Amino acid sequence: STPCLSSGATAVIETFKEVIKEFDLEAEVTVTSTGCMGPCSRGPLVTVQMNGQQDVIYEHVTPELARDIALAHAAPEAKPLDRNVLPADLPFFNKQKKVVLANSGLIDPTRLESYVARDGYSALAHALREMTPTEVCEEVIRSGLRGRGGAGYPAGLKWDLVRKAPGDKKYIIANGDEGDPGAYMDRTLMESDPHRILEGMAIAGYAVGADQGFVYVRGEYPIAAKRLENAIRMAERRGLLGSRVLDSPFGFRIDIRIGAGAFVCGEETALMASIMGRRGQPWPRPPYPAQKGLWGLPTLINNVETFGNIAPIISHGADWFGAIGTEKSKGTKIFALAGTVETTGLIEVPMGISLRDIVFEIGGGIPNDRQFKAAQTGGPSGGCIPTDHLDTPVDYESLGALGSIMGSGGLVVMDDTSCMPDVAKFFMEFCMEESCGKCVPCRVGTVQLHRILEHVTDGSATLDDLDRLEELCVMMKETSLCGLGQSAPNPLLSTLKYFREEYEAHITNHT
Ligand code: SF4
Repeated sequence: STPCLSSGATAVIETFKEVIKEFDLEAEVTVTSTGCMGPCSRGPLVTVQMNGQQDVIYEHVTPELARDIALAHAAPEAKPLDRNVLPADLPFFNKQKKVVLANSGLIDPTRLESYVARDGYSALAHALREMTPTEVCEEVIRSGLRGRGGAGYPAGLKWDLVRKAPGDKKYIIANGDEGDPGAYMDRTLMESDPHRILEGMAIAGYAVGADQGFVYVRGEYPIAAKRLENAIRMAERRGLLGSRVLDSPFGFRIDIRIGAGAFVCGEETALMASIMGRRGQPWPRPPYPAQKGLWGLPTLINNVETFGNIAPIISHGADWFGAIGTEKSKGTKIFALAGTVETTGLIEVPMGISLRDIVFEIGGGIPNDRQFKAAQTGGPSGGCIPTDHLDTPVDYESLGALGSIMGSGGLVVMDDTSCMPDVAKFFMEFCMEESCGKCVPCRVGTVQLHRILEHVTDGSATLDDLDRLEELCVMMKETSLCGLGQSAPNPLLSTLKYFREEYEAHITNHT
């Protein structure tokens, strides 16, 4: 995946192939490129699998180390090297629960056979041969799956709305336009297991009566787009997509649309405008996409991670899925764990796990003897959660109650060197630049909030400005047209709530 490739994985792969050729080991050893294994800050990562032995994972692999690894494991008394080995009992792996990422890091995302060998497309076959569209929708409703893009709307209810919407022509959209700073869950899923998304979309198409799907991929994700494109072509050639899916009367095509870098295009109506070739700006809802979406027709739009949950739900059943997580937040959630934490990377955890477990067990704690200060969830739409709430269960309701959101899965950890007004200013600047400008509260509000925050951080604000900040935030939340403007104040409001003394210190220390 991108993090390992950017830290030299291609040269590592080439070295393995060369050594295997040099020592005539091609009949015994296979080198496979996989998607993400998780601990991105330790890449490039290499897993050595030997018959009858425990897997060995190596971190920070260079071409020189790759040669040593190959020779050590290929020797008659094969044994792992004594360096760069990740401990087998690392909490980073043991505390996770892989549902959506079950294949990630194991299969070659460029080969359909790799996916099929791990039961890929069997859920689609089961749905087409054993279930009616209504039954598929009911199964997704029963599973309790909620949309993973941020809002957490029950996925099955949305599917059922589209299924019941009148009309012969309907669309499916997988939203892979991930733009939160620090977030790369969607990119990694698309790069690591593209067929999983396509299979979920095809099942959705069958369930709601759609024959066309689009994957909307962020323009900055060329590897993801290429792997999806490749996966679509392979699935079409094998009759898994196309005019007769698995020789059934159901036909389903998928095309890719590439975003042009506007954050607001992650918002569903702006995304649809972009697909239709219009300027990527939101439009008011209702009507919702389920009633009037692409070209005025019923459209089901879900995040790529939501679609990644569908095949396991159909294969293992709604009860199996519902047993994971909490009462109201079922299943797992993928997070991009970033910031000042020992091991950063991509993780998938059961809903309800505590922030403390994520930061201190999976992430390995705060490096350099610093203290935890806050975790920012949900990107520019989310909030900062302080130390007092480290034991909060990570689910939609609990994070919302703290003034943050689950969001799509960005999770940035900050240590005690972070300045919270600075953090709020960073996110506000991001929203100010990404505001599409269509409605006044957001277009003007983000600029004004950013200006006051600049005054706070340079010490020229007054204590009254803090009240003004709060007043403006409330106005923006209540009057902005789309989610960007409605949620842009969240990082500011949450840092004001939990770290107000820092704002006041900036002001009083200069007066
Ligand atoms: Fe555009 Fe912001 Fe208004 Fe959304 S809230 S429509 S991003 S100006």
